[in-house]
Amino acid sequence: MDMRPVNKNNVMFNIQVPLASLSAFMATAAAAVRRTAAGEKRCFACSGVFYPEDAGCGKYFCPDCAQALQGREMGFCPSCGELYSWALLPPAPCPRCLHKPPPWQRFIFYGTHENLLRELLLALKFREQLHLAPVLAALLINRPAFANLNVDTVAPIPLHRRRLCQRGYNQALELARPVARALNVPLFPDLLLRVRETSPQTELGRSLRRQNIKGSFACGAAVTGRHILLVDDTMTTGATMTEAALTLLASGAASVNAAVISRAPALSLL
Ligand SMILES: [Zn+2]
Ligand SMILES: [Zn+2]
Repeated sequence: MDMRPVNKNNVMFNIQVPLASLSAFMATAAAAVRRTAAGEKRCFACSGVFYPEDAGCGKYFCPDCAQALQGREMGFCPSCGELYSWALLPPAPCPRCLHKPPPWQRFIFYGTHENLLRELLLALKFREQLHLAPVLAALLINRPAFANLNVDTVAPIPLHRRRLCQRGYNQALELARPVARALNVPLFPDLLLRVRETSPQTELGRSLRRQNIKGSFACGAAVTGRHILLVDDTMTTGATMTEAALTLLASGAASVNAAVISRAPALSLL
C-alpha cells in the first residue's frame, strides 16, 4: 500500500482542464513572468508601480504622470519660448524677439511651468529631491531640437555663494550634469560666477527684473571661442538668461545657447 502523503491542495491534477483554457492560463502566466523579469518600476512623480513596457510611459513615469507631463509642442516663440494663450498656434516669433532678438542662438525648453512639471521642479529646487534632476533633464534631452545643438561647453546659471550655502546645491548644476553627459561635452560649473547678490526675480516685474540682475555675473574661466549651452531650471522673462548670455559674449564666447526645463508665461508681467 502506498503510504506517501497526498497534497490535497494540489487539485490541479484532479480536474479536467480544457486545453484552450490551459493554454490561455499558461500565456497569462508567461506574461506575468516576463513582466516580473522586466522589473516593475516606481513612478518618480507619484511612486505608483508601473511596467516599463506599457506603451508611452517611458523609463521614469507611470502612464498617468507621463500624460500629465506632456511637453509643449506648439503655441510658443521659438526664440525665447514665450507662451501664447492658444497652445495650437504654430511656433512664431513674439513681438519682443521681432523687435530685439535675444542674445542666444538657440533656445530649448520642455514644457510649461504648471501642474506636475512645476511641482517636480519645485521639489528639486526647494525640497532637496536631487534624484529628480536626471529625470527632468531626460525630458529636455529627448527633445528633437536637442540633437541639433552645436555646443562644446555646458554651464549652469550659477547661484550666489550665500544662497548656495543656504540651499546646499544648485539645481541648475544638477540639471546641467546629465545634459553635458548626453552631449558628450565638458561641464564647467564655475564658467559663470554670481558676483552680486540679487533679490529673488519672482518678486519683481519685467523691467525691475532686468535692473535687478544687471552686472551680477562674471566669467570664472576663459570662454573665448567657446560654443556654450547655458542650463537653468525655469525661465519667465529671460532677464537672468539674457544677462548671463551677454556676460559670456562680452568675454569672447563664440555663441551661447539656452536650455531650460520649463517656461512660465511672461506676457502678463509688466
Ligand atoms: Zn505616476
Ligand atoms: Zn520671443
